Amino acid sequence: MPDRDDGNKDRKEGVAAPDNVEPLRPARPCPICGKSSIRKYHPFCSKHCADIDLHRWLSGSYAIPVVEEDGSVPDGGENGDG
Ligand SMILES: [Zn+2]
Repeated sequence: MPDRDDGNKDRKEGVAAPDNVEPLRPARPCPICGKSSIRKYHPFCSKHCADIDLHRWLSGSYAIPVVEEDGSVPDGGENGDG
């Protein structure tokens, strides 16, 4: 009995994956509090700071408010064993 070999699979090669990543610009710190700004509220870090800046202009006098926030920063620091 002849052994039939029906293992003729079609393998796809040449995966077209766009590897052209745009160069990220140097992230500027929030001009209000100095935190890392996010794209959503660029160039501010959050809507809070964005509003502050806005109010400054509305108010007229561009003064520096006292922003003191004492909280835990979302910085990853966990010990994981993979
Ligand atoms: Zn901020």
